[in-house]
Amino acid sequence: MRTPIFAANWKLNHGPSDARAFLQRFLPQVPRFDDRTLAFFPPALTLPAVVEALRDRPEVLVGVQNVHSEPAGAYTGENAVAIARDAGARLVLVGHSERRHVFGESDEATGRKVRLALDAHLTPMLCVGETLAEREAGETESVVLRQLAAGLGAVTDAEVGQVLLAYEPVWAIGTGRTATPADASAIHTVLRTALRSRVGERGAGVPILYGGSVNRGNVQELLAAPEVDGVLVGGASLDADGWSAIVRTELSR
Ligand code: PEP
Repeated sequence: MRTPIFAANWKLNHGPSDARAFLQRFLPQVPRFDDRTLAFFPPALTLPAVVEALRDRPEVLVGVQNVHSEPAGAYTGENAVAIARDAGARLVLVGHSERRHVFGESDEATGRKVRLALDAHLTPMLCVGETLAEREAGETESVVLRQLAAGLGAVTDAEVGQVLLAYEPVWAIGTGRTATPADASAIHTVLRTALRSRVGERGAGVPILYGGSVNRGNVQELLAAPEVDGVLVGGASLDADGWSAIVRTELSR
């Protein structure tokens, strides 16, 4: 059984003071779950404040939204995996659609970042997803499979189980348009089949989250869909009461 994951991607929202206030309100509303995992991806400058605020809640995971594709060196303004780990991150998003499509991150860079993350004892959450044009051209499967293969290109078969995946159709992120549970399930199944064909039963243990305009109204139905093992949420994770309602969603499977 894969434990469902509720992950909040705060993008450029919530500085340290806001994040402390958020957690002060959020934490008393949420029990220490044993049937689900919670994770926050705050901005890098906010991460230490979040780690500190979660000192007594070590079951809640914290991650960075991106790292540089080189482990160290003269890269002003970037974040290194080892520094992220030292600051308390346990997860890292790799290949989020905004990294790919706003900052031009290549498939090859995602592969390097996944490798660096594992080497630094960070769990990578590799994001894949097609644009609207790719979807309309019938290329969804080939795009996500290409992104999956590249992202896991430098990962050994034995390590595949240490990676988390997120399917985030680009056209659904921040747009209010959500994939139907059936659509999400279909692509998750494509990803699962690819994982199994690469590493056999070990591929069954990799959680595959869905992301793209998840909210209180659609989260339960999405999580009930076969192969949807969690949600990666931007906009609807920004309000403490709203996010607490989402993470307390009754799970129907
Ligand atoms: C995201 O940022 O990964 C995301 C899915 O955003 P939203 O929930 O706002 O679509």
